[in-house]
Amino acid sequence: MSNIISYKVKKGDVIFLENDVADCAYIIESGSIELLINNNGLQSRISKLAEGAMFGEMALIDRHQRSATAVASEDSELIVIPNKYFNDKLVNSDKFILLLLKTIQQRYREMRCRLDRVLQESEFRKHLDVNDDIKNDLEQTAAYACIQIKAEQNLKLALEKNELVLFYQPIIALKDFSVVGCEALIRWQHPREGLVMPSEFIELAEQTGLIVPMGRWIIEEAVQAFSRFVDSGLNLEFISINLSGKQFGNADLISNIKQIFEFNHVDPGKVKFEITESILMDKSVNIDNILGELKALGSHIAIDDFGTGYSSFAYLHQFPIDTLKIDKSFVYSMSYNHKSFEIVRSLCVLAKAIGLNVVAEGVESAKELTMLKELGVEYVQGYYFAKPMSSDDFKIFQVNTDQ
Ligand code: C2E
Ligand code: CA
Ligand code: CA
Repeated sequence: MSNIISYKVKKGDVIFLENDVADCAYIIESGSIELLINNNGLQSRISKLAEGAMFGEMALIDRHQRSATAVASEDSELIVIPNKYFNDKLVNSDKFILLLLKTIQQRYREMRCRLDRVLQESEFRKHLDVNDDIKNDLEQTAAYACIQIKAEQNLKLALEKNELVLFYQPIIALKDFSVVGCEALIRWQHPREGLVMPSEFIELAEQTGLIVPMGRWIIEEAVQAFSRFVDSGLNLEFISINLSGKQFGNADLISNIKQIFEFNHVDPGKVKFEITESILMDKSVNIDNILGELKALGSHIAIDDFGTGYSSFAYLHQFPIDTLKIDKSFVYSMSYNHKSFEIVRSLCVLAKAIGLNVVAEGVESAKELTMLKELGVEYVQGYYFAKPMSSDDFKIFQVNTDQ
């Protein structure tokens, strides 16, 4: 079991017994817990833990025996964290952090053996009290961990319960104001909080690795939507799908994408994958090979948010890129900031010279549109034309040419 669950206990309930084999840890969501050890046949309390505290945590590192008995000292609610959940995280964790944890664990076990011998003498008990600063720091960390663990679990459930939806924002050709494509953008249709934007959950999905199954779902959903758009009579050249750097670390990325294209009978040439400059910089994955494989399938590659990252022109000939998406911050500032205008102008000249097409993002005004047209930008995307919309709205969307 790798899922986190909440668990209610009544006052006096035994959560685990000393010497039980451990396979999970707990965080106290509400209530309190006592930890007891057997002292020559007598139970003696070694600590009382309150809301926010974690206990049984050694089980997360190995399946050792419990070193104490845990009993609910009042009706309490616990978050159960299985050993597998922690180990799944460890697989992706920094090797130094792993070493640190294992070393601390070893020291803790040695220390426990020595302390057990002297614990009976009350003289020593006072030395075991932890300093208030450390306690506060631990409580804050535990509170943050509780929020993060719950958010992760909710997001996982959202994916399982089909609460995630894709919206589509039209991409328009400036030469004739036709809708040539769209960008798929994720939203979370939360049952209580309404539509949640990706800025609220994509980072969490990336940190927790959930972006891999979520990203697979996004590709599948977007490809199927594209197929439906074409079937309903829309004359689209492409659909843009955002890829996160974490998806590049997944060995199955290309085979999954291939499968999705084949299963849905969609021409890979109709899909443009949007990646950011930071992905190109990441030396931990073989980005060259992966982009090469996407290109070999026939798909296109766009660099997203161009200008906001490292903006090394070296990538432009090093990697098989088709499109530059000029970031909305430049589009926004170019109408009043001469330097921004010059950056956009230079990017357009450069892109043209090396055969890349350009999409300007975040177009919000007629003035920006006129400037982009004069610079020879081919495609635009922005609130001036349309905000991202549901697939049903996208099917009937038409550019308002009177604007
Ligand atoms: P992005 O890929 O740069 O997407 C463009 C963002 O700009 C979208 O925000 C879009 O709604 C917004 N936008 C478009 N036109 C305008 C405009 O005229 N003015 C302004 N102010 N904003 C405009 P959104 O949908 O909130 O997405 C934010 C970011 O979340 C995306 O930035 C992308 O990095 C990430 N994201 C969204 N969907 C996905 C997804 O399916 N997969 C992944 N990996 N990331 C996604
Ligand atoms: Ca994008
Ligand atoms: Ca962008």
